[in-house]
Amino acid sequence: MFERIVERIFPSRATTQTWMILTLLLVVGIAVAAVGLYITFVLRSEVQIAYQQTMLQQTVRVAELVEAEQDPARRLALVETMTLFGELRISILQGGRVLDVDRGAPVREGTLDRHPEMRFADGVEVNHARRKEDGKLVFYTAVKREASGMIVRVAQPRPILFGLIGRLQFTLIVAMVMALLLAVFGSWIAAQRVTEPLVAIRNSAKAISEGKLDEEIYVDSRAAEFQDLAKSLNLMSDTFKEKIDELQKMAALQNEFIGNVSHEVRNPIFAVGGYLEALASGSLTEDKRKFYAEKGLTNLERLNNLFSDLIEIARLEYREDLIKPTTFELSELLDEVHDIETAKAAEKGLELIVENPVAHVRADRARIRQVLINLTDNAIAYSDEGTVRCRYRRHLDKVRIEVVDTGKGIPEEHLERIFERFHRVDPDRSRKSGGTGLGLSIVKQILAAHGENIHVESTMGRGTRFWFELPYEETARPTQTLA
Ligand code: ADP
Repeated sequence: MFERIVERIFPSRATTQTWMILTLLLVVGIAVAAVGLYITFVLRSEVQIAYQQTMLQQTVRVAELVEAEQDPARRLALVETMTLFGELRISILQGGRVLDVDRGAPVREGTLDRHPEMRFADGVEVNHARRKEDGKLVFYTAVKREASGMIVRVAQPRPILFGLIGRLQFTLIVAMVMALLLAVFGSWIAAQRVTEPLVAIRNSAKAISEGKLDEEIYVDSRAAEFQDLAKSLNLMSDTFKEKIDELQKMAALQNEFIGNVSHEVRNPIFAVGGYLEALASGSLTEDKRKFYAEKGLTNLERLNNLFSDLIEIARLEYREDLIKPTTFELSELLDEVHDIETAKAAEKGLELIVENPVAHVRADRARIRQVLINLTDNAIAYSDEGTVRCRYRRHLDKVRIEVVDTGKGIPEEHLERIFERFHRVDPDRSRKSGGTGLGLSIVKQILAAHGENIHVESTMGRGTRFWFELPYEETARPTQTLA
């Protein structure tokens, strides 16, 4: 029921302004109506009861005084005196004689009986009545005196207090109308203050939703909530903007990566095709045939390396749990790397030196092996003379591992970028040495999965130093002190 009324008054969708005006009108309306009802019904009847009480007391007092005076002439004089006070009209009915002082002289007998206040039911001693006389409202109180057989009636015109209540009611109606008008005006202004910033926020949010991400939400309001709301929305749109930028960058990188991959794949395939065609032609010397076959194989190996690296990158990218740390002894791992790489170094006339004090670290052994092989491979590939050195030393709770060469070095402007996929300082040299352009990015990814970084320092013409750290593990019986 109540809900239905609310539904009728309040529309299901309306502006905040309408809502606020309706709400305030309802509240003010109810308050004013409650006060009006109280004054009309409760206060009026309470005043009437109090007034009847006073009239009763007056009437009883008059009756007592009249009863005390036996002499008719003096009694009349006494009653006359009493009527002088407060516009009273006193009527006395005793033994069929009526004394009505207001009218000056005794009135006709029997005329009083027709008035309701003069007709007493059994056991009733007091009657109250009111009626209009000559256009004026008059209140009557009649008392029946058992002892003297006298009925005393006092009449008094409507007291000023009643008029006051009437005026109060009128004033209230005027005040109510004014309060309602004020409520409409006040709520209109208040709603204006609330809705203006809301409309501004809505418009900006709409613009943002239409893709205008640079739109800044601004509210010209002193209300803390609106300022906070605008701030939060701006933060939200900034975050979206950042994420979208990030996604766009990632998409661009991915496109570039795909382009690079297809380029890197196509080249060796074409080369292999060319060498196979050459091999297919009949008149070839043994040397030429061997040369083409070797070239073809080198390109196939390059292709194979590329696919291995690509698979590795994809694995590292999508399977972070691929890192399975164990505690292992570093010098053993370096010996392994030495065994794998030493022939390659010797081929180029380089000396591969591995320093191997015993130290335990906690990391994924197979992955770190790959890091070391990639770094050593590069050191050998990009050095023409001197040494390639793998060494490590304890540094606080870490072991710092470095691969140092005496090669040509890396120009400063490339130092940042060599860890990007397919970034090469000298693409020809890289390809000639079987490089895929992915080695260092794999190194970086593996170390990042360990929570570590790869660092590089290089001096042109003097050599390059790559280094990274791994968590040092204390073992039960250290056999050798670290350098
Ligand atoms: P690549 O397969 O070409 O070696 P990497 O990602 O391993 O690819 O290395 C990226 C580039 O960084 C190389 O092409 C090379 O120009 C440079 N680079 C890497 N290691 C060294 C090094 N030890 N000395 C000089 N240049 C290096």
